[in-house]
Amino acid sequence: MDIGFIGLGNMGAPMARNLAGAGHDVTGYDAAGVTLDGVAAAASAAAAATGRDAVVTMLPDGAILRAVYAEIVPAARAGAVLVDCSTVDVENARAAAIEAEAADLLAIDAPVSGGTGGAAAGTLTFMVGGAPEAFAAAEPILAVMGARAVHCGAAGAGQAAKICNNMILGASMIAVCEAFVLADRLGLDRKALFDVASTSSGACWSLTTYCPAPGVGPKTPADDGYAPGFATELMLKDLRLSQQAAARVDAATPMGALAADLYARFLGSGGRGRDFSGILEWLENNAHRD
Ligand code: NAD
Repeated sequence: MDIGFIGLGNMGAPMARNLAGAGHDVTGYDAAGVTLDGVAAAASAAAAATGRDAVVTMLPDGAILRAVYAEIVPAARAGAVLVDCSTVDVENARAAAIEAEAADLLAIDAPVSGGTGGAAAGTLTFMVGGAPEAFAAAEPILAVMGARAVHCGAAGAGQAAKICNNMILGASMIAVCEAFVLADRLGLDRKALFDVASTSSGACWSLTTYCPAPGVGPKTPADDGYAPGFATELMLKDLRLSQQAAARVDAATPMGALAADLYARFLGSGGRGRDFSGILEWLENNAHRD
C-alpha cells in the first residue's frame, strides 16, 4: 500500500520503519523534521496524505491531532483510510472521525499498548474504534505494526478502552505498592506476600507480571532502577484523560481520581523519567504526606 505516516517520534518512527520493512511505500512527515531511512520525506502533513491509500498518525495529543486532521482530511483521496494511533481524549477522537467521514474517508482510532519495545518489535496491541469497513481496511496495516487488534466499537471506543484499562492499571499499581509498604512495616517478607497474593484474590497484572518490588517475581523495571518501561508521565497522561472523560459523562471514578492525584505528586517529586511502578519508593518514604 501507499501509506502516509505523520508523527515520527519514539513510537511513530519504529512503526513507520516496520511498514516500510514489510514492503509498503511509506511517506513520512514530522513537525520536528525527523527523516528515516527507507521512508520518503514529505514537506508537510498534507503532502504526506495526498493520494495515499492510508494515513497513519502518531501524535502527542488531541489538539495536535485535530490541527493535523484539518490539513490532511481535505488532502486525502476519497476512500482512503485514516488510522490514528495516538492516545487522545475520546471527544477529539470522535470529532476527528466525523470530520473524516464527512469527506468520504474511512477513519479509526487505534491507540496502542506495548510501548516503544512493542513498536520496534511490531507486537503492539491496537484498541480500535470506528466503522467495521474502516477497521477492515486498516487491518493489513495494523497486522504489520502489531500482534493484535481488537475492534472495540464505534469511533472513540478504542480511546475509551485504552483509558479504562490504564485507569485500572494506575489504581492497581498503587494498591500493590501499598501492600508491599504495609508488609514491610508488619515484618512480612516481600517474597512471602508475592507468593500468597499472586495466587490469591489479590492477584493482578501489576503484581504478577509487573511487580513493583525489586527481586520479587518476574524481572521488571523495578529490577532496573525503575528505568521505564512505562514512564510516569504517560501513566499520568492516561489517568488525566480518564478523569476528563469521567467528568464529561458523570461517571464515578474516585479511585481513578486519587490515582491521578498521587501520580501527579509523584511526578513532581522524583517520578519524572522513571517507570510508574517507582511510586513504590515514594510511598515507602511516606512522601505522599509532604
Ligand atoms: P513523541 O513525542 O516521541 O512523538 C510525537 C511526534 O509527533 C514528535 O516527533 C513530534 O515532533 C511530532 N509532532 C508534533 N506535532 C506535530 C505536527 N503538528 N505535525 C507532525 N508531527 C508532529 O511521542 P511518542 O512517545 O511517540 O507517543 C506518541 C503517542 O503515542 C502519544 O499519544 C502517546 O501517548 C502514545 N503512546 C506512547 C507510548 C510510549 O511508550 N511512548 C505508549 C503507548 C502510547
